Amino acid sequence: MNSLIQENVPMHSYTSFKVGGPARYFAEPSSLLEIREVLQWCAQAKAPIFVVGKGTNLVVADEGYDGLILHLGKRFSGIQIQYNTLICDAGCLLNSAVKSAVDAGLAGIENLGGIPGTLGGGAFINAGAFDQELCQVISKVTTLDAEGKLTERNNAECDFSYRHSGLMNYAEIIVQVELTLRPADPVILREQMNAILLKRRDKQPLDLPNAGSMFKRPPGGFAGVFIEKSGLKGFRVGDAAVSEKHANFVVNLGHATAQQIWELTKQIIAKVQADHGVTLEREVIFLGMGKV
Ligand SMILES: Cc1cc2nc3c(=O)[nH]c(=O)nc-3n(C[C@H](O)[C@H](O)[C@H](O)COP(=O)(O)OP(=O)(O)OC[C@H]3O[C@@H](n4cnc5c(N)ncnc54)[C@H](O)[C@@H]3O)c2cc1C
Repeated sequence: MNSLIQENVPMHSYTSFKVGGPARYFAEPSSLLEIREVLQWCAQAKAPIFVVGKGTNLVVADEGYDGLILHLGKRFSGIQIQYNTLICDAGCLLNSAVKSAVDAGLAGIENLGGIPGTLGGGAFINAGAFDQELCQVISKVTTLDAEGKLTERNNAECDFSYRHSGLMNYAEIIVQVELTLRPADPVILREQMNAILLKRRDKQPLDLPNAGSMFKRPPGGFAGVFIEKSGLKGFRVGDAAVSEKHANFVVNLGHATAQQIWELTKQIIAKVQADHGVTLEREVIFLGMGKV
């Protein structure tokens, strides 16, 4: 076995929901060279690859993942500032990019403070909050494909839309993200970022494991409002529950399983459809679970 590859690594340690079975193989490469080595090993072993950032928008099946989970190591967390541009390694925390931008007096992502994932995961899903989305500021995304070739895409080529990107169509690893921002007063930016952090603390169940908003915003309203109107706050399947604090958050009350979270979301979708004629779509990614 290659020294970069570990076996049977429990994924509950790598997801914010704290659920999920073992990854058959797991690697935490800390350079492009090491990623290429892991890719070669996977090609030889015919092992599929799935990239995990901070696992804050992810549920991994209780059975685990029968392939290799690639987790960008700590060395992929660099942030450089050149004029109005932040050049970030994909494994850096989105929150660190926000703080760096605010300190440097660069505007455009201050409302994204408090989103707990990596910038790579954020670009992949086009993370956003409070009227800002990463797609408004991403100027370049660099990826590595299974053959180890680097590709650079500009904003248009990433084909971003609401909580979606064209990057989802390629089985590629995002290794770097460039954000082009606007000069602004750092004092005002910091005040704005701190106000957003307070709102998050006030409205979100940050004391229990979760993966942020469970459902995308449906046409005609907010998922949480429909779920609350359906009387589902506190509704549980096992230890997976609709948060009492914010109805679009599913929380792990202690020993929830991935299957319980899936089943709970299925029942929420069915009830909201029946009560309001609104079709909810999951925002959280379920790895190795059903499709509906
Ligand atoms: C308390 C809380 C609040 C949140 N608030 C928000 C919010 O306001 N707005 C919002 O948009 N999201 C929010 N989220 C969800 C989540 O934090 C973001 O979507 C975040 O950007 C996901 O990043 P991640 O590194 O955790 O991705 P992961 O969960 O690890 O992965 C998500 C997807 O991205 C892919 N991916 C990750 N890294 C890479 C990479 N380097 N290359 C290729 N693919 C990759 C994975 O394969 C997976 O499909 C919240 C989550 C929590 C727990």
